[in-house]
Amino acid sequence: MNGPSDDLARLKRENEELKAQLQGNKPEPAAPPEPSAEMASISEGDATLRRLVQRMAMILQAEKIAIMFYQQETGELVAIPPAVGIEEAQLEHFKLRATQGISGEVFRDGRPIIFHGANVDVRTRKDIVSMFNITNGITVPLVIERRDEENRVVDRTTIGVLHAMNKRHGDDFNDEDVRLLERMAKNVGAIIANLQLYRKVVAEREELLQTFESLTTGLVLVSPSGRLSQANATARTMFRLGIEAVGKDYKEVISNADLVKFLDEGLTGSEPASIEITLEFPGTERIYQVNGAVVKNEEMRMLGFVVILNDVTEAKNIDKMKNSFVAMASHELRTPLTAIKGFSQTLLEGVEDDIYSKEDQKEFLGIVVNECDRLRRLIDDLLNTARIEAGESLKPDYAEFDLVPVADRAVKVQQQASVKHDVKLEIHSTDLPQRIVGDQDKLDQILTNLLNNAIKYSPEGGQVTVHLWREGDKLKFGVQDQGIGIPADQLTKVFDKFHRVNNDDNRKIYGTGLGLYLVRHLVERVHLGRIWVESELGKGSTFFFEIPVKLDLEEAHRLND
Ligand code: ADP
Repeated sequence: MNGPSDDLARLKRENEELKAQLQGNKPEPAAPPEPSAEMASISEGDATLRRLVQRMAMILQAEKIAIMFYQQETGELVAIPPAVGIEEAQLEHFKLRATQGISGEVFRDGRPIIFHGANVDVRTRKDIVSMFNITNGITVPLVIERRDEENRVVDRTTIGVLHAMNKRHGDDFNDEDVRLLERMAKNVGAIIANLQLYRKVVAEREELLQTFESLTTGLVLVSPSGRLSQANATARTMFRLGIEAVGKDYKEVISNADLVKFLDEGLTGSEPASIEITLEFPGTERIYQVNGAVVKNEEMRMLGFVVILNDVTEAKNIDKMKNSFVAMASHELRTPLTAIKGFSQTLLEGVEDDIYSKEDQKEFLGIVVNECDRLRRLIDDLLNTARIEAGESLKPDYAEFDLVPVADRAVKVQQQASVKHDVKLEIHSTDLPQRIVGDQDKLDQILTNLLNNAIKYSPEGGQVTVHLWREGDKLKFGVQDQGIGIPADQLTKVFDKFHRVNNDDNRKIYGTGLGLYLVRHLVERVHLGRIWVESELGKGSTFFFEIPVKLDLEEAHRLND
């Protein structure tokens, strides 16, 4: 059991040893110990210092011990913990300018001073003397010495002063006490120097760790012995690791086989070529590019292997989308061309022999015209996308026009295109404006596009309805179908350029992924409106858009001219 009497006994024993060491002619303690090796932690250093000042008080029979530290920013000497006989909360009042008092003199001259009648001595600061009830004392400089390998002092800095005050039993301090205190000041200096250095290293390390920690790039560091010595927050999320994983064997905590292999290779000292890994998360997967580098010290000894992981999912998706766009676009171009060529050739071959009836010819030519329109639409879509990309507008032509006939016409044209679907217009308000201001052609383009999709993405047929109503100063449209629907996580993405939902239902339906991108531009930028979609997979979708009943023409021109 460790009781207070044990502690006292230990302290006494240590005191005896120290006293013997100080009074005997033993060599001085060597240079300040190396911070990391000798001082396992700041708290250990603090505890050593605390013990040391207590010993000083005992050996010197002093009631009070105070360490004052010079602060460069303020030019003051300020008492710092630990102290003896002064409450820690009071220490901050134990301060003065480095030009004042006995403390200042000792700090400047580097020579110790003994003082006896503190309240009458002209050199003392009387406010401090009375505040801390100081009667007499010794003040010695606190010096840090840096030594070379042969233990020669190569640098000496005074960092503050050390006071022993109020000799017990009304005695006075003597020269022997000065000698003892000077010796002890060396130890105090060395410990403080180490603590400072240690604190600086810890602060720097902390700063570095915080920087790593807040990186959006994943960072993993493994030691040559295969321990995970660091994994920042992003990396821990990627591999679902708790902070306790740090310090363990990476093979135990990282489950991704590709990354483990990458780390294996890296630790052999051969820098592996960058790889890509795919990680699964609930409802999504992300692709990361993995780069690694061997970390070496100045002597080229391997300290570890560092890996950074960058999320390249978006870039990869754009790549994928571009590739599928090229495939789609070639299909979309080839299909009408094949039809146009096929039917024109058939007609051409029939000219001489008059094989085809007028009806047949009409039908064939009708197909040719339709396919030419389809081609033109595709080319327009491509050109318009390129224009928007270049920051240009689609040059609106604003005018006043009749609202309902535009919607009606779009519905009728689309009804003709499909026998499987029942396409209709439903008006839900009695206060619709008769005429509105906008770009009639572009409103037609919006409705046609949405209707076209509604038909295209409901291959089984069904109802396709354009709802139209007014809500305050907004005109609202909803194009509703009973088709395949859109997954919830794609509801905003479908408006992105080239974005196509990639599932079994969709794969057979061709398109470029440009329609809704252009529609959004026509609603938002040309008509200063808003567009969104609600959908249920397998049940159908409704694309809503709203535009102002009264378009702010000035704003519209400002945005589009
Ligand atoms: P495209 O139809 O040429 O692929 P769009 O930009 O018009 O391009 O549409 C983007 C994607 O949104 C489509 O590929 C499809 O996956 C989805 N989509 C659009 N309209 C509908 C709809 N009415 N029902 C289901 N999915 C739709």
